[in-house]
Amino acid sequence: MQINHRTGAAPTVVERTFGPRKAPQVAPVLVEDTPVPGLVIAPVVRRALLSDGWRFSGEWTVLHAASGLSALGAVGALGHMREAAALLNRPGLDWTRPTSELTASPGVKELLTGLSARVRAAVAESRPAQLRDTSWQVRPPLWVVTLLDSDGKVVETGACRTYTDAESEAVSYGRALDRTAHADWKVEISRGIDPEWELSCAWRPCGDALTDPESGFPFRHPDRAGLVADALEQGWRQLDQRRVLCPVCSDLFTTPLPAY
Ligand SMILES: [Zn+2]
Repeated sequence: MQINHRTGAAPTVVERTFGPRKAPQVAPVLVEDTPVPGLVIAPVVRRALLSDGWRFSGEWTVLHAASGLSALGAVGALGHMREAAALLNRPGLDWTRPTSELTASPGVKELLTGLSARVRAAVAESRPAQLRDTSWQVRPPLWVVTLLDSDGKVVETGACRTYTDAESEAVSYGRALDRTAHADWKVEISRGIDPEWELSCAWRPCGDALTDPESGFPFRHPDRAGLVADALEQGWRQLDQRRVLCPVCSDLFTTPLPAY
């Protein structure tokens, strides 16, 4: 791994308010910026169980930078909080304003209550909040190029995604033939019967397709169970019968176990 030693802008530090409401603590915290002005992501600290100190819980939360308070009251994996910041980015909602002005804006409390429930449900299930209905995408059947001998027996077949590719394949079959020995052999182009399927990441903003590592193209296959097996082998995670997460999203949306 190449470490970037360039010195650019300094990391952002905010005054974080944490701990019980009756006796809040305030401390400077290094945070991750988000694309939403006024919102940042910070590590979660909790009271240690066995000592008087504080501990990192392994979770993250979205902070309202101006107040240092949690914007949504939800904690989760880094992916959950990056997604939460994006969900909090609403027209007319300026997160650089003070808390008193934000909470006085009409509809803001309802928005935060609804989003908080949505993010908490996602955290509880270790999955993103913004899921596609399905990871499956159906593709038309392939074009099949068949080389037949003089008795009509199949000598060789090839499959192509477009008719143009199938034509080129048919021409190359013809060129490779010994014309004197196989004068009455035939090359046919036909449409396959079964549609093919592709599998893509169920997190809406991602949508990466499961690809063949050798060709770099998306895997396509009529056998859906086979595709799921390939995906699991490549580190994808199955959420349900219709949805899978790519390895990056799977890691980003795996809720950390509580640390003690
Ligand atoms: Zn993904």
